[in-house]
Amino acid sequence: MRAARYQGDHLVTVDDIPVPEVGPTDVLIVPEYVGLCGTDAHIVDGDYRSMPPITLGHEIGGRIAAVGSSVRNLKVGDLVSVEPHYYCGVCLYCQTGRLNMCPDRRAPGVHLDGGMAEFLVVDETIAYTVPGTEDARRAALTEPLACAVHGMDRLAPESGLPIVVFGVGPVGALLIMLAHRAGLGPIVAVEGRPARRDLAQRVGADVVLDPSSDGLHDLLIEASGGTGFPYAIDAVGSVAVMETALPALSRGGRYLIFGVAHPDARASISPNDIYARELTILGTALNPYTHRRAANLAHQLPLDELRFGDFPLERFDEALAAQRDGTYDKVFITPQTKD
Ligand SMILES: [Zn+2]
Ligand SMILES: [Zn+2]
Repeated sequence: MRAARYQGDHLVTVDDIPVPEVGPTDVLIVPEYVGLCGTDAHIVDGDYRSMPPITLGHEIGGRIAAVGSSVRNLKVGDLVSVEPHYYCGVCLYCQTGRLNMCPDRRAPGVHLDGGMAEFLVVDETIAYTVPGTEDARRAALTEPLACAVHGMDRLAPESGLPIVVFGVGPVGALLIMLAHRAGLGPIVAVEGRPARRDLAQRVGADVVLDPSSDGLHDLLIEASGGTGFPYAIDAVGSVAVMETALPALSRGGRYLIFGVAHPDARASISPNDIYARELTILGTALNPYTHRRAANLAHQLPLDELRFGDFPLERFDEALAAQRDGTYDKVFITPQTKD
């Protein structure tokens, strides 16, 4: 079978490799859509720990082509989304319900072979059915959606209150969709690119601001209704966003860091302000126990508002370039398409 393989040293090749064997608890998946995301770019750049050579692809939607002898919950033909983690099961975090903190997790597409191939074998426990749709693209989007659901769990917003989301990449758009469904409002999006500001409005933002506007702080406070935001999300991973968002929080406000900032980045924030206004700063990582909920939601969200770019395996480099420069809202590899 053909597979897009990260070889280490910034090199991705499309190789012919054997179809993996299906063990008793495994399922054989035919990946139809596999999302490219920032993590893939970081792997190829060498600043995300990977274990090459591996087949890339961790946002996987496809159909079951074969099941192992003891698989009970899945059958040939089922549309599935892969929850791309195997947790060690023996560390403190695994044994106390905080799977996503497991230091020894293994991820298909990062440490193990992933979905950018004609076939993929995973244990049945990480292949999730996706109800209410036959769209493998929605199955693939379930993975970033599961991370967005965990982020909203961390933020724990109450309905009827305003929220601001900085950055309307694919995940920012998913967060706006979830905020909309959760009854938050007004939903304010801050985004520099005009096409992404349009996207924000199509998926539920009530007010969209350009971060380069003069007097952005005052515009934010005004958009919040005058008292600032009880909830703010950084979907960029940016010092500037943090330094803009914290002063725009209301008293008791909660700030969620979803975007991946550079490890060396440092922000200037006021401990006194955090103390006096009882602010909360939250991180969010991965998708612990949220993949089922995301799979159940996938058919209900306006995911088709994203502009998709599809590329066959052989055009991986072109796909990665399109992902980096934001030509599309979301880029997919379609492993079953011949170039
Ligand atoms: Zn991803
Ligand atoms: Zn563990």
